[in-house]
Order: sequence, then structure tokens, then C-alpha cells
Amino acid sequence: MATDVIYRSGGLVLRADTNEKDPGEIFMAECRKCSATSHVVDDNRLLVEVWTVNHSKENPGHQQYRLTTDTFWAVGRAGKRL
Ligand SMILES: [Zn+2]
Repeated sequence: MATDVIYRSGGLVLRADTNEKDPGEIFMAECRKCSATSHVVDDNRLLVEVWTVNHSKENPGHQQYRLTTDTFWAVGRAGKRL
């Protein structure tokens, strides 16, 4: 997984936190009409995409969603990995 620098200042570097115990990303969708939500899914946005289409099929007129994506960051000294 990439560990590109996001921001650097004063000898500290902000990077994506890519340790092996945490997911890279967490996804959840919420219907903007009825507030129904998908399951919270680690690292597989396709499951959330499928949920939104199925929700629209089952609920005509429910066509807009809010996607929430959580990612993890870590700050460390420049030149050192966490
Ligand atoms: Zn809905």
C-alpha cells in the first residue's frame, strides 16, 4: 500500500497509516431520502455500491446517497517509518 507524504512540516511527516491490523478504508452509504444506511464495510466499496443500487430498486424515488469514507493517517519524524 502506498505511503505517500500528505503533508510535511517542522521535521514531521503526515502519511496514510498503512499498518496491517487496520483496514485501508472504511465505507458506508446513507440514503438522503430515508436515512437508511448500508453496512459499514472495510476495504470493499463495491458492497456499498451494490447496496445503493438495490436500495433504489426497492424504494423508487430514493436516488441520492451520502458516501462516508474513513481513512487513517499517522504522523512521524521525517525519514522514519512508523
Ligand atoms: Zn431510502
